[in-house]
Amino acid sequence: MTQKWNTRTGLVHDGIRRSQYSELSEGIFLTQGFAYDSAEQAEARFIECGPDEFIYARYGNPTVRMFEERIASLEGSEDAFATASGMAAVNGALVSGLKAGDHIVSAKALFGSCLYIVEDILQRYGVEVTFVDGTNLDEWRAAVRPDTKLVFLEALSNPTLEVIDIRGVSEIAHAVGAIVVVDNVFATPIFQRSLDLGADVIVYSATKHIDGQGRCLGGVVCGTRDFIRKTLEPYLKHTGGSMSPFNAWVMLKGMETLDLRCRAQAASAQAIAEALQGHAKLDRVLFPFLKDSPYFELAQSQMEKGGTVLSIDVKGGKDAAFRFVNALEIFTITNNLGDAKSLVTHPATTTHQRLTEDQRADLGITDGLVRISVGIEDTDDLISDLLGALNAV
Ligand SMILES: *Cc1c(COP(=O)(O)O)cnc(C)c1O
Repeated sequence: MTQKWNTRTGLVHDGIRRSQYSELSEGIFLTQGFAYDSAEQAEARFIECGPDEFIYARYGNPTVRMFEERIASLEGSEDAFATASGMAAVNGALVSGLKAGDHIVSAKALFGSCLYIVEDILQRYGVEVTFVDGTNLDEWRAAVRPDTKLVFLEALSNPTLEVIDIRGVSEIAHAVGAIVVVDNVFATPIFQRSLDLGADVIVYSATKHIDGQGRCLGGVVCGTRDFIRKTLEPYLKHTGGSMSPFNAWVMLKGMETLDLRCRAQAASAQAIAEALQGHAKLDRVLFPFLKDSPYFELAQSQMEKGGTVLSIDVKGGKDAAFRFVNALEIFTITNNLGDAKSLVTHPATTTHQRLTEDQRADLGITDGLVRISVGIEDTDDLISDLLGALNAV
């Protein structure tokens, strides 16, 4: 989709379809199927389904299509396919184009379920996987081969917020003809345009910032029309990973305020990172837009803002981290992120519990590490809540 308007306008208007009633808000087309005027029309639609024609909700639906067009326009991709969750999107983007015997390269710092797909499912079906430290371009260079079909990475790693050089990785991958699939959740579609940096396929968990208010699961894959309609869609529409119309409607409403929310959250995250930096109770503050971050320059070159999540390492390990988390009043303990509400997670005992101690150490996930997802509350309230809880440690 080419962007007709600037981002905030597009987020409110792009993709809109109105029925004969000219409803102002996007309609929720809660229908599984679609009726045809004649047998000839049904036949024609099964031969070729036009851009505004529908057959069955697993294949497509007007409300879902509005969401797909709005996100494709925001992302600057030719097309998009919406999925039931972020994991259906990751699974579709990875599995739809691969077969036994193919080789892929993946960054090793991945969201737990993404790691399960790459490490377990793909290898079980005969795809060979090489893991690399995503921040080290030499490792990517050494890992790709003439038969490498795809490389996969998360733009900002969870929970240590390491930044991967997407331009560098894309150059290395494209030199051997591999496509670059980026899970852009942490960077958000507002702050990082991964397609412009060289990536080919962008994946989102819409559950995070796009809904942003903790209501629905959803996901989306953005890419070329060829990839989305010829490779991804056949796989997803026949395996049942499509987004429900109701969830698409929630996501459309979420997109209206996406830019406003992300900017407010990122401004608070920056202020919080700066306020906590050097605090006596902390070993580290991890946020890519802190000047002393090893990723500062790279982050500045590919992101407009530092994102909405930061991590801190509380001195004193698990006990101290738990005392800190339990003393917070505004921040809610949960494993979600990107929400209007500020949230905290202790990765070592929750999202990354499944990893071995060695794997956690390798990824920098210490017992004192706490991930903070910054919401849209008042910045000063958030900072005083955090400082107050640190006092309790
Ligand atoms: C949450 C998340 C996912 C999975 O999304 P769901 O909507 O929960 O299925 C994938 N990747 C990243 C980076 C995430 O944060």
